[in-house]
Amino acid sequence: MFRRIRWKLLAFCMVVCTPPFIFIGVHLSQQFEAIFTTQLKAGLLDLARLIAPEALEGLSSGDPAAVHRHLRGGHHGADGPQVVITDASGTIVGVRGVPESAVGTRYAHPSIARALQGEEVAGVGTAPGAEEAAFAAVPVRTGPGSRVFGVAHVSQPLSALRAELQHIRWVVAGTVLAALLIAVPLWLLLAQTIAGPVQEMERVASKLADGRLSERVPVRSRDELGELARSLNYMASELEHIDAMRRAFIADASHELRTPVANLAVAVEALKAVIGRDPDQANAVAADLEREVQRLAELVENLLDLSLAESGQVRLNLTALSPSELVLRAAHPFQVRAAHAGITLSTEIPSRLSRVTVDADRTVQVLTNLLENALKVTPPGGRITVEASEQYEHILFSVTDTGPGIPEAELPHIFDRFYRVDKARTRGRGGAGLGLAIAKRLVEAQGGIIKAESKEGRGARFVVALPKAS
Ligand code: ADP
Repeated sequence: MFRRIRWKLLAFCMVVCTPPFIFIGVHLSQQFEAIFTTQLKAGLLDLARLIAPEALEGLSSGDPAAVHRHLRGGHHGADGPQVVITDASGTIVGVRGVPESAVGTRYAHPSIARALQGEEVAGVGTAPGAEEAAFAAVPVRTGPGSRVFGVAHVSQPLSALRAELQHIRWVVAGTVLAALLIAVPLWLLLAQTIAGPVQEMERVASKLADGRLSERVPVRSRDELGELARSLNYMASELEHIDAMRRAFIADASHELRTPVANLAVAVEALKAVIGRDPDQANAVAADLEREVQRLAELVENLLDLSLAESGQVRLNLTALSPSELVLRAAHPFQVRAAHAGITLSTEIPSRLSRVTVDADRTVQVLTNLLENALKVTPPGGRITVEASEQYEHILFSVTDTGPGIPEAELPHIFDRFYRVDKARTRGRGGAGLGLAIAKRLVEAQGGIIKAESKEGRGARFVVALPKAS
């Protein structure tokens, strides 16, 4: 049962809140008792002070019997406090509310001796043979400091007060119980408002874990639980998005692999038809076959590169390097090919450039890809320029060509994987639309950014910004 949050919360509330309730109940009843007893003692003291002067005359005139007569003739009610008057020796000379047989005996109450010393005494105690009572004892005398003729002693058994207090205790206990009865359903409600959404989220999270990515939690509040629900939903949307991307990636990759594989099958069939019969033809088909195998190998290589880059598993060996060296390393292999295609390939690098913090191989791979694209699209007589420059905290590398450029509408997608500007035209040349996607991820992995600028018909320019060495 206590594995559920709701019950844990309820148990917590009860454990934390019930003791204060009980403490308040007990404290209140003790307070009541203290207040009542104090008041009772004060009342008795007042009464004793009233009675003492009335007893003075009889005691001082040597006529103790007059005291008793006077007391009996008083107007105090029968069930009022018990009154005992003693003379200076502690012998009872008058009573009220006490059996008259007590007159003439010694009053053994401990307060008598103190009152005979001239002290006014009030307290709670037990006289021998009597029940516990509150009492007050006042010396009978003409004035403070004068001779003490006797004691006026008033007492009231606590039983009546106790019964009264017991009644109050029941009322307090009933109130505490009623408060608990009201509080428990409220605590349950509170526990439910917390546990309900948590349970709902737990249910949705386990569905998400089962692959049901369209599940969402209703967001019912603006508090932390609402925020948590919102985050869970956001996470679910992201998972859904990633899942869709993964499916698209597999679909695209299979689609891209199908063409070269089909081409291979065709070439193999053609080879079988001519082999042994027409060596020239067979050589030509074998060359086709080789090209297709090459394309397939490149495609697989690219797919592996992309999946490594996307999963963040590319190992980077970041060092401070000279930008011109990187440019020359990338551009050098293209010099002959460019010249062969009638294209001018030039590099423009200022002599004093800061170093750049990059992985040499990966940066050369990016620049090579940009140069490869430029070479593919630039017509004979055109120009490809590779530049390096410095801007704030970055070293900029750019590859500019005089090819057909990229239509403005295509620019935002150019770095998407499997994206080709002119699908029919480029597939034949082997591009699967992965080069720029890989380049972007490699640049970003090194803390840089890559951008494409183009005016259709007026060439394209790719700029890579990488962090300067500090
Ligand atoms: P691919 O491997 O097919 O070359 P890329 O990702 O490198 O794929 O390029 C994606 C698309 O961008 C291709 O369709 C390509 O034609 C186009 N493209 C890339 N570079 C240029 C450029 N310099 N000028 C015009 N189009 C370009």
